[in-house]
Amino acid sequence: MLTLDPIIFKLESQIPYVSPDQAIALFDAEAKEHNLVLAPLGKDQYRIETPMGMIDLLTHDDAVRLKISSPNKEALYLLKEGVDDHIGHSTNHSQEPLQWRGDLPAGETPPNFREVSVTSTQPIGRTFVRVTVRGKGIERFFDTGMHFRLVFPKQAGSVPVWPYLDEAGRTVWPKGEQELMRPVYTVRKIDKEIPAFDFDVFLHEGGPTADWASQAKEGDKVGLMGPSGGWIPEADNILIAGDETAIPAISRILETIPVSTKGTVFLSIEKEGDQIPVTHSPSISVEWVIRDGRSHECLLDQAKKAELPEGKGAFVWLAAKKSVARKAKHYFRDEKGFNTKNSYIAGYWEEV
Ligand SMILES: Cc1cc2nc3c(=O)[nH]c(=O)nc-3n(C[C@H](O)[C@H](O)[C@H](O)COP(=O)(O)OP(=O)(O)OC[C@H]3O[C@@H](n4cnc5c(N)ncnc54)[C@H](O)[C@@H]3O)c2cc1C
Repeated sequence: MLTLDPIIFKLESQIPYVSPDQAIALFDAEAKEHNLVLAPLGKDQYRIETPMGMIDLLTHDDAVRLKISSPNKEALYLLKEGVDDHIGHSTNHSQEPLQWRGDLPAGETPPNFREVSVTSTQPIGRTFVRVTVRGKGIERFFDTGMHFRLVFPKQAGSVPVWPYLDEAGRTVWPKGEQELMRPVYTVRKIDKEIPAFDFDVFLHEGGPTADWASQAKEGDKVGLMGPSGGWIPEADNILIAGDETAIPAISRILETIPVSTKGTVFLSIEKEGDQIPVTHSPSISVEWVIRDGRSHECLLDQAKKAELPEGKGAFVWLAAKKSVARKAKHYFRDEKGFNTKNSYIAGYWEEV
């Protein structure tokens, strides 16, 4: 019987500014951070096996080389981006990116990028605009992650020039008049038939995305990058809290979790009347927390008063302003014993 090996795509680069010992320590720490292992693989060679492919570290003759191999170009690109990011930050050399050689096609958009078109927009309540998009390859955003980066020109009305890969495998983002915005949003509703999906943009003061969404019209081109993380928590008993930016994710969670899941949900909004319809099963109770000029921390104060979910299927899910998420992490994880497996606590925006 003929068996075919999976196609392997490869990239290779030197790391000019670290010693072999530094590189081993660096990759060992990073592997541990992701619950992975940097394993020795013969003389002067180490390997991290990840769900997206392998990272080989070669430390021959005092030079440090990296090899990445993956079953597809997208996984290869994502692993490379992760390595670039890690090395840049840990060595303070983010201004001297690695020179990769291999199987990423120069001149093309990154493999996790798709250009799609706006098909319609509609107001949801008085503080959200729902944008519907469709286009080739949009199905990739349906079931392997809840979030994505929305890419659109900073200068309203200009024709977008998309990011591309250069000869060294780097993502080149247009600058100046062609600069692009790339905030993170949530896939709210999916239509597999068309195929298309909706995302809901919260209309806050001074938000370029809010301005973009308010002016978007049928046929406008927009870029999507991802999917990038987040999924429906598996829980029997759940405590959920979030502000406007998290309402799309929370709504999708409430529409997807089993009807048997019990839970309490706190949704923080600025004013009475800002509520939007939220569909949920009878075993979930939803309470709106009206800030009315109070600090965003009132969401956490309210969540702290609720009964904590207990037992094997307990889960805490909270997404809000970064400062609130930081305090929530301290409370739920350091004080109440939740961990990264039975809680998702994320900062979705910050005051700048
Ligand atoms: C995983 C994830 C999923 C998200 N999903 C959604 C979603 O589905 N819908 C959604 O609306 N948002 C969502 N967000 C939040 C969104 O990415 C941020 O609000 C982002 O800052 C919006 O970008 P912007 O370009 O409009 O504003 P920015 O350029 O980031 O900021 C412009 C100004 O707006 C302020 N600002 C930003 N967000 C808020 C806010 N919520 N309230 C008040 N002022 C604000 C900033 O402080 C700044 O002064 C999500 C974020 C994450 C991390």
